[in-house]
Amino acid sequence: MTERTFHPPQRTLMGPGPSDVSPRVLEAMCRPTIGHLDPVFVAMMDELKGMLQYAFQTNNQMTMPVSAPGSAGMESCFANLVEAGDQVVVAQNGVFGGRMKENVERCGGTAIMVEDEWGTAIDLNKVEDALKANPDAKVLAFVHAETSTGAQSDAKGLAELARKYNCLSIADTVTSLGGTPLLVDEWGLDAVYSGTQKCLSCTPGLSPVTFSERALEHIKGRETKVQSWFLDLNLVMGYWGEGAKRAYHHTAPINALYALHESLLILKEEGLENSWARHKHYHMALRAGLEALGLEFVVAEADRLPQLNAVKIPEGIADAVVRGKLLNDYSLEIGAGLGPMAGKVWRIGLMGHAANAKNVRLCLSALDNVLSGLGAGHSRGAAIEAAEKVLSAG
Ligand SMILES: *Cc1c(COP(=O)(O)O)cnc(C)c1O
Repeated sequence: MTERTFHPPQRTLMGPGPSDVSPRVLEAMCRPTIGHLDPVFVAMMDELKGMLQYAFQTNNQMTMPVSAPGSAGMESCFANLVEAGDQVVVAQNGVFGGRMKENVERCGGTAIMVEDEWGTAIDLNKVEDALKANPDAKVLAFVHAETSTGAQSDAKGLAELARKYNCLSIADTVTSLGGTPLLVDEWGLDAVYSGTQKCLSCTPGLSPVTFSERALEHIKGRETKVQSWFLDLNLVMGYWGEGAKRAYHHTAPINALYALHESLLILKEEGLENSWARHKHYHMALRAGLEALGLEFVVAEADRLPQLNAVKIPEGIADAVVRGKLLNDYSLEIGAGLGPMAGKVWRIGLMGHAANAKNVRLCLSALDNVLSGLGAGHSRGAAIEAAEKVLSAG
């Protein structure tokens, strides 16, 4: 036989996710598997839930990881909140807003789209106009951190608009959780989903979600059953709910939950504010270097996500050649453009464990070498020099 044990290469992951996983998290995953109803496991789940509430800055009882990737967290919010015939205002400024539209329609709802140019933040005035024009709308859905473009939108302002027009809010925070400020309770968000493989430094495959009391009331008042049995919160809470009897719903991904527990512990040890500040600091260093390479950011400064740096590919430089060389010669992964931005931009992630000085230096020196090898005219060494100035200042 030709099959052998699989040994992946050691990469540095600076794309749109997955990002570098902390060795502590990988080690946690290797621990012995125990039963998902074992009292020791259940106690770990309670702790995990408390740390997720911290990460989301919420007291919502309905806070837990869905046993599937971020896309399932998205689906869980829409499937529970949207019923056939409902109108949902969806703000779209990138790829993920488009998936929200798909979700609304597959729930039998009507999506009222408010579109903004890719690479810009969501325009609150346009959203307010749509809410005014559609008084029957029940939900406002938007992406806080658009990973496809690197733009951050005003989640607080959008949550306020939802309340003002008597809508529930659904927020995609897959890339924002742990990386930039996200205050679920203070901002009044209702249904929020995230992912583990972006700024939480964890492996992919779980989707933390949190639901406000208002959202739960709405779900309880539904006229029809949630069409997805697996994602129906009324059932899932029998396993994850407070004081729940921990009845069997599905077999929890035990070892993946050890990993999430460890990654949240790391976040708590560092402190949320410190984690936000770290992402910002290394972003400023990377940015100084990228600009010294002559690379231009897609998103205006005020709306930029520190953890996702989208830059335009210079004229005459072949996207795939550069990413191929970075991967083969430096074992470094950066992200390609998505949808209409394919071939036009690179997306350089600085997420979670990957947001560190070593990665900034590796990425800049690798790009410096690869781009000059392809004839780019920047001055060699300037990128690292620019980044070092920022690094030594912080
Ligand atoms: C990555 C991502 C998702 C999807 O998460 P998966 O874990 O890949 O399913 C959804 N929304 C945003 C903004 C993302 O960045």
